[in-house]
Amino acid sequence: MQITVTKTQNPKQKPTDETKLGFGRIFTDHMFLMDYDPQQGWHDARIVPFDYIPVHPASTVFHYGAEIFEGMKAYRGANGQIIMFRPYENARRMNDSAERLCLPQIDENDFVEILDTLVELEKDWIPHSEGTSLYIRPFTYGNDPHLGVHAVSQATFAVICSPVGAYYAEGINPVKIAIESQDVRAVRGGTGYAKCGGNYAASLRAGQRAEAKGFTQVLWLDGVERKYIEEVGSMNVMFKIGGEIVTPKLTGSVLPGITRKSCIELLRAKDYTVSERLLSVDELFAAAQNGTLEEAWGTGTAAVISPIGWLSYQDKEYTVNGGAIGPVAQWLYDELTGIQWGKRPDPADWCHTVC
Ligand SMILES: *Cc1c(COP(=O)(O)O)cnc(C)c1O
Repeated sequence: MQITVTKTQNPKQKPTDETKLGFGRIFTDHMFLMDYDPQQGWHDARIVPFDYIPVHPASTVFHYGAEIFEGMKAYRGANGQIIMFRPYENARRMNDSAERLCLPQIDENDFVEILDTLVELEKDWIPHSEGTSLYIRPFTYGNDPHLGVHAVSQATFAVICSPVGAYYAEGINPVKIAIESQDVRAVRGGTGYAKCGGNYAASLRAGQRAEAKGFTQVLWLDGVERKYIEEVGSMNVMFKIGGEIVTPKLTGSVLPGITRKSCIELLRAKDYTVSERLLSVDELFAAAQNGTLEEAWGTGTAAVISPIGWLSYQDKEYTVNGGAIGPVAQWLYDELTGIQWGKRPDPADWCHTVC
């Protein structure tokens, strides 16, 4: 595909202290933009200096939440190469989200080529310290300049990049999770499996309440029976119960995480029994009480693995593995980050070399 590149005349100062990067606060010098309308399809693919984007005040994104996104990272590999992790998975998921929200889809090869081109141009922004990376945020939003409610016909696809710090700068600390019994994140038939901004807007209230009570995140239950476990915060969730690894099955209200999928594949290759099935809070707490709940952890691109040390539901509290990270969570973390940073063998070819 044809991408025009306009380089910035005012390159920014790159951050010097890589311990203070945080998450998503600093942006690189350039961004990618491309527009869609039904007559021309996707057109005007361009890399331009990072800046504000002019958007018509009537745009569908503002009024009807027409927005989808992806989240992925580029890493510096052990031999100096730049690596992205399974980018075709993100391309496919972005198109599944687009289909659900009636936004235009993008050819998967074009999606990866766009990221390759932008990341290569911005490669000096990828931090060097252990655990750091360049976070990549592709997103599509509806742009129709009128207020009538109907499927989007005009849209923009954009990609921005942000150097991010090590998620576990102070070591992997297990988190305290509150099981949410009031708000729900998604329902079957809704948009739970799509990565769309609206899902996040609707989940903020529960997260805020949990934080005020000293919890890191909420564990979401299904929206119909308020009984089956779905996700934790914006991560997928896994439990080790009596030797079996259990993770909620993809019923339509659960986001199909690429970290989740990779963990399942790694665990099965190691001969663990992994069940994608319904798991009720009652079953979970019975396991916590009779001592068969061995481990719990969340999975997602940002943290990779986030061990859960404490679970709270209504007036009950449970500790998992004495509030410490367990051996399976630790093994998954080491294995996945080892592959992502090019330090461990990559038998399934998950690493995509950018340059
Ligand atoms: C992005 C996301 C995840 C994790 O997906 P990964 O591909 O592993 O990063 C899980 N749950 C929700 C709600 C998400 O938005």
